Amino acid sequence: MLASALPFDARQRSQDAERLVMKREERLYSKFRAAPYYGGIATADAVGCSFLCAYCWNYRRNEDPARGGEFFSPQDVADRLLAIARRRSLTRFRVTGSEPILGDASFDHLLKVMGLVLDEEPRSSFILETNGLMLGAHQDWARRLTRPRVLVRVAVKGADPESFEKITGARAEFFRYPVLALRSLEEAGVKAWPALMGDFFSPAQVQELEKTLRDEGIRSELELETLERYPAVLENLKRRGISF
Ligand code: SF4
Repeated sequence: MLASALPFDARQRSQDAERLVMKREERLYSKFRAAPYYGGIATADAVGCSFLCAYCWNYRRNEDPARGGEFFSPQDVADRLLAIARRRSLTRFRVTGSEPILGDASFDHLLKVMGLVLDEEPRSSFILETNGLMLGAHQDWARRLTRPRVLVRVAVKGADPESFEKITGARAEFFRYPVLALRSLEEAGVKAWPALMGDFFSPAQVQELEKTLRDEGIRSELELETLERYPAVLENLKRRGISF
């Protein structure tokens, strides 16, 4: 079980989560499936995150990664994703439900999965959904993602440090990390863009975030996501005192 007191040190939580969800080069996953997002995408649901977002649909597993799942090697993950893609004629791939990059071991695992899938399916693309924490903490890591057909969507989570802390449970100072991640990805020539769960923010807050991103030299457009209102998500939001 990860420490439950909020707000927490997100880098420490990332390290602690990586210890629980990585076993040598294998990572803990809960399932593999085809999902309707991005026009259809072969999806691996992994476990373990550096944040504990109040609206996370995988909240319980990310709170306590030991709740279940199975460890898979990069080759096992790639084989399962490729089988789903071939069965459903899909050309996009992703890992979701977690933070794919918690530290060195999980990043290596992810890069291997990406490489295996993209080498096998030359028309495909891999969409890396990340909260940007570790890419912001290690800005030289962006270069490892410079390969064709890798697209990176960075969830920035808050419009400012205060809203970031409320949503993610991580201390406000970590608001800056996803922004740094976006900047280093752009500098490395990786196709990347920021995303924000629009339901929780006023138009003025969205504009404030857009200005922050512009001031940091980030040119890509902000994507506004819409919350999936699953009953467990609404319950957690209430428990965390977040209304919208
Ligand atoms: S960053 Fe994503 S996976 Fe992690 S807690 Fe937040 S919503 Fe869940």
